[in-house]
Amino acid sequence: MIDLRSDTLTKPTDEMRAAMARAEVGDDVYGEDPTVIRLEERVAGLFGHEAALFTPTGSMANVLAVRSLVAAGQEVLCEASAHIARAELGAHGAYTGLTMRTWIHPRGQVDLPTIRSIFAPDMGPFFVATTAISVENTHNFAGGAVLPLQDLRDLREYATGVGVGVHMDGARIWNAHVATGTPLVEYGAVADVLAVCLSKGLGAPVGSLMVGSRDAIAEARVWRKRMGGGMRQAGILAAAGLHALDHHVERLADDHAHARVLAEACGVDPATVDTNIVVAQRSDAAAFVAAAAEQGVLVSAVGPTAVRLVTHLDVSRDDAEKAAAVLARL
Ligand SMILES: *Cc1c(COP(=O)(O)O)cnc(C)c1O
Repeated sequence: MIDLRSDTLTKPTDEMRAAMARAEVGDDVYGEDPTVIRLEERVAGLFGHEAALFTPTGSMANVLAVRSLVAAGQEVLCEASAHIARAELGAHGAYTGLTMRTWIHPRGQVDLPTIRSIFAPDMGPFFVATTAISVENTHNFAGGAVLPLQDLRDLREYATGVGVGVHMDGARIWNAHVATGTPLVEYGAVADVLAVCLSKGLGAPVGSLMVGSRDAIAEARVWRKRMGGGMRQAGILAAAGLHALDHHVERLADDHAHARVLAEACGVDPATVDTNIVVAQRSDAAAFVAAAAEQGVLVSAVGPTAVRLVTHLDVSRDDAEKAAAVLARL
């Protein structure tokens, strides 16, 4: 089976497992796990922020990050197919008590004119107040689309001007970095808080981080524990993340090249494939998924007429070419 359902499906490499086995550990709820501390300091530094917090999942990092900017009864603006809006099972409403309003962009991009038109300042006891704007880079359901740095800078300037925060869901920020050559610190500079994943393209088995100011991270540490996310000898997991940062970032370029091979086979213009995700329109996505599985290629339906293919660490060039041949036939 060639598994293109998601880049979360990767299994840790032998080298990664060895790094995990060697990890120095302590009780991280006591703040005594040296490997977790090393990972948090390193990731904070990569984005030019003061601090970071290791979390079990990207969803938890997003909930903690958004709630640092938005209180119960306030709202965050985001794109309609954002992961925070669609794929976290209402966590932000359920835990934080915030609401969301959305703009729609087929490529998941920043749409500043629409954001300006729906933004609501504090208008007293009449309208929910906007206190943050969230962007997703790369944008998962928009097919791994990269958000151009200039758009993010314009958004940062606007948000600062109207006094609201910016959250970036950077689950795949590494892919944006490798695809465009934009330094991570430039992405860090346009957001007050970020969530980044180690368990997607980077190939770690578990783990994400929230990145932000010292104060925001201190408060998030309390909320992480409250939510049941305090982990003890988590250095074993953090070691996988450190290994991934050392060895699995630059190679994302291979995943991007493999995605373009698959795109071509599916009749999708490779020029529209920014990173490692291809979304192809098929009149009957479910039937297409079943037919591909029968021929040894696993893909997923992300809508009644949309099929998603994702390349990753466990898909070689040879796998990509074999899968492309199967998909082209279908
Ligand atoms: C995967 C993903 C997350 C986090 O997902 P978890 O499964 O909770 O780790 C967040 N945002 C985006 C865009 C994602 O693709």
